[in-house]
Amino acid sequence: MIDPFGRHISYLRVSVTDRCDFRCVYCMAEDMTFLPKAEVLSLEELERLCGAFVRRGVRKLRLTGGEPLVRKNVMSLIRGLGRHLDSGALDELTLTTNGSQLGKYAKELAAIGVKRLNVSMDTLDPAKFRELTRWGDLDQVMRGLDAAQDAGLSIKINAVALRGVNDQEFGDLIRWTHGRGMDLVLIEVMPMGEIGETRLDQYMPLSLVRSEIAKDFTLEESDYRTGGPARYFRVAETGGRLGFITPLTHNFCESCNRVRLTCTGTLYMCLGQEDAADLRAPLRASESDEELDRAITAAIARKPKGHDFVIDRRHQGPAVPRHMSVTGG
Ligand code: SAM
Ligand code: SF4
Repeated sequence: MIDPFGRHISYLRVSVTDRCDFRCVYCMAEDMTFLPKAEVLSLEELERLCGAFVRRGVRKLRLTGGEPLVRKNVMSLIRGLGRHLDSGALDELTLTTNGSQLGKYAKELAAIGVKRLNVSMDTLDPAKFRELTRWGDLDQVMRGLDAAQDAGLSIKINAVALRGVNDQEFGDLIRWTHGRGMDLVLIEVMPMGEIGETRLDQYMPLSLVRSEIAKDFTLEESDYRTGGPARYFRVAETGGRLGFITPLTHNFCESCNRVRLTCTGTLYMCLGQEDAADLRAPLRASESDEELDRAITAAIARKPKGHDFVIDRRHQGPAVPRHMSVTGG
């Protein structure tokens, strides 16, 4: 699949549920309303849709959410998708998770062939963690991380940089992640969905974060890539990797190889644009994938050049009305 700007689309991110056991302040409002179950694709339908993308050249699948591991029977989907790893059609099957269920599932994920996980954790302070996630328990996530590392999974910790919340902790996060052999990726907060707080209070440009970090650490340029949007540095003092995802201060669209599928079968060609294609109707219309294939081709032909995220005094509302939990990270 090649889009109108010559970008090869080889990476599909799938939000398998919009539900979550946390309510992170930058992601969701506390009283989120979730999709009625009837609108959500069954696990079998999700597996068929993913299979269609794999046939079309997707080499990397990332399951996300909401919290992917709280969807009932999600492991049956992951086992099904693991078969594409066994056949060699897929290079990588991975997840973005808040880590709360890893104690339960890490071993099985590793057995299926998952090699790497992104685990989201913005702070090492249990009280702050509870405040930020509203419902989360840092201890439980830590136990999940232990289980994942014991199972041999490589871990990348994702942390959203939040002004006045974790901006004094980046050094600790670097030392802790690298000390445990994990990568750290810092993310700029993106204006997605009404969350009942203003984004300007939360937003911290990573250019600023980087210069703060550079006071205490030596950041060496690195050409390490994972197929995602992060730019990596090697931290000389720890020998670990530090990535930055900067959708707002540095345009990351030129090399975009991704499309995103929601749990209702809506395909978003760009995280920061509203245009989307419904794949549920063609999926359900017939048992053959012909109609679905046509819909996928038409959607890729409409992939936009990039997003228009802005956060400043005049733009404090969401750039897109949907929450991050709809399309996932
Ligand atoms: N529940 C899983 C988790 O937290 O990792 C997967 C879904 S979550 C929506 C994926 C990633 O998006 C997380 O790393 C989270 O921190 C990030 N995220 C959520 N809302 C965001 C926002 N408004 N701006 C930037 N990142 C955001
Ligand atoms: Fe849930 Fe992840 Fe959103 Fe937090 S960031 S509320 S863990 S979906």
